[in-house]
Amino acid sequence: MTLSGKTAVITGSNSGIGLGVAIELAKAGADVVLNSFTNRDEDHALAAEISKNHGVNARYIQADMSKGSDCRKLISDSGRCDILVNNAGIQHVAPIDEFPEDKWDAIIAINLSSAFHTTAAALPMMRAAGWGRVVNIASAHGLTASPFKSAYIAAKHGVVGLTKTTALETAQEPITANAICPGYVLTPLVEAQIPDTMREYNMSREEVVKNVMLTRQPSKDFATVEQVGGTSVFLCSDAATQITGTTISVDGGWTAL
Ligand code: NAD
Repeated sequence: MTLSGKTAVITGSNSGIGLGVAIELAKAGADVVLNSFTNRDEDHALAAEISKNHGVNARYIQADMSKGSDCRKLISDSGRCDILVNNAGIQHVAPIDEFPEDKWDAIIAINLSSAFHTTAAALPMMRAAGWGRVVNIASAHGLTASPFKSAYIAAKHGVVGLTKTTALETAQEPITANAICPGYVLTPLVEAQIPDTMREYNMSREEVVKNVMLTRQPSKDFATVEQVGGTSVFLCSDAATQITGTTISVDGGWTAL
């Protein structure tokens, strides 16, 4: 399949899943717009590398997904947006009665409200282009809960709800909206937690991975950014034309439990 001629905007894509999704979409021929809130040389270098490796137009645009106006400006500055991947996200872990209000507000803004703003800005462009795909990176925590992650879980359930409404509002148009729900994905962020957890529990790397991180992931294996990227590419393919308003789990069986 080829996504050549399409432009994909991926929020929060200077690392981890967002970057992995951007690379898989570029491999499929899409021009890509990378984003995060920083504006460093290395951010722009990532775009240049994708461009060089995959022969597509790749740009990096700084925009803070905690601000509605930045979210909308990211889409307008991109010029066109055929594929919108809402991926930017942060986490904070604390019991509800101790959860800092500013962390709650930031998580709801970045993980949920940003997807509302970017979708609102992108749908008119998709309608004008006569084709569009919205891919929201939710989580297994968009379908199930865990203690101490109230804001993240509320936001990710919200993303699944927003996905369904986006799909219903575009159901009779050549536009689809779906959410990918990854379980644990081995990103640099997750990798960095392993040494501390090994020390904390006096465990080997294998024990930390299987008995701490992947307790709820029956496959006992991480998902990869390439797998989440490949699922995004599939949702942009002709085979997925009638797939809309749903969730696809990439979670090693987590939500089957
Ligand atoms: P990550 O920290 O590597 O990526 C998060 C991205 O969001 C980064 O590029 C970061 O710069 C960006 N970001 C953070 N705040 C931002 C802001 N204010 N404005 C713009 N960009 C901002 O983490 P990741 O694991 O790749 O997570 C990516 C997405 O996948 C998140 O939505 C996360 O909830 C979701 N997810 C991750 C996992 C996992 O196990 N890693 C599992 C399920 C869902």
